[in-house]
Amino acid sequence: MSYIELRNISYKYPLSKANVLKNISYSFEKGNLYGIIGSNNSGKTTLCNLIKGLIPEFYEGELYGEVLIEGKDVRKWDSNILATSIGYIFQNPFSQISGIKETVFEEIALGLENLGIKEDEIIDRVIDVIKLLNITDLAKKNPNELSGGQRQRVAFASIVAMNNDILVIDEPTSQLDPQGTIEIFDIINKLKQQGKTIFLVEHKIDLIAEYADEVLVIDEGELKHWGKTNEILANKDLLNRGINLPQVALLSHEMENINEPFDQFAITKAEAKK
Ligand code: ADP
Repeated sequence: MSYIELRNISYKYPLSKANVLKNISYSFEKGNLYGIIGSNNSGKTTLCNLIKGLIPEFYEGELYGEVLIEGKDVRKWDSNILATSIGYIFQNPFSQISGIKETVFEEIALGLENLGIKEDEIIDRVIDVIKLLNITDLAKKNPNELSGGQRQRVAFASIVAMNNDILVIDEPTSQLDPQGTIEIFDIINKLKQQGKTIFLVEHKIDLIAEYADEVLVIDEGELKHWGKTNEILANKDLLNRGINLPQVALLSHEMENINEPFDQFAITKAEAKK
């Protein structure tokens, strides 16, 4: 049995004319990092929402098929268990900050408080996460006064503190500079080493190339390519779907083009010998 399985998933928002996800099936293994790539509006965020499950919109829209976690439909999971199993780091860090807490420390503690964890343990966990994310300098600041990049880190910290087995991460570095991006990917890699199963939407294709075990390419709601990262990201068809290739793959395709004139020359030489 796969750890997580999408079975013939199609989805239509209440107001959308056609399905925005079209008959997607895939099996996911525990402890892997899955890169989800595709051009804008291809359906990546919708897919992330669906994996997270229990989003009211999905019940108003039309959902076909099933999302199974350990063989059980997410809609049949107890919502508390689901909340502690799956963490979702949204694309927009502004939507993830509660706005009701006065310090970053309290903001990160909020989710743990809601789980009813004892205060001593909460303090230890928040301190650990603050160190892990290198945001000690933000701990006493007001979350509402942070920059976009700082908010993204705090949103990330709040989820990491929850210690979920499954993480759905939608463009975690959209607000970050190159240094911040490297730091977040270091942490994502640490979470993977801890055995977490991670779904990651990310436009920076070189990061997907470096960190993902497998890649799913979504185009207009359809799963077009899937499998081992290095095989999928070498496919020139991705360029037709508005997706960049990693530098290494681009270079190797360029080398093929450079070789072509030599190949032609080789044929001419062989013919000349006749
Ligand atoms: P991506 O994450 O790849 O940019 P999305 O999953 O956000 O794609 O969107 C997929 C399609 O669904 C788009 O055409 C988008 O306009 C549409 N869509 C997204 N959210 C809604 C919504 N709440 N209601 C109606 N249509 C939506």
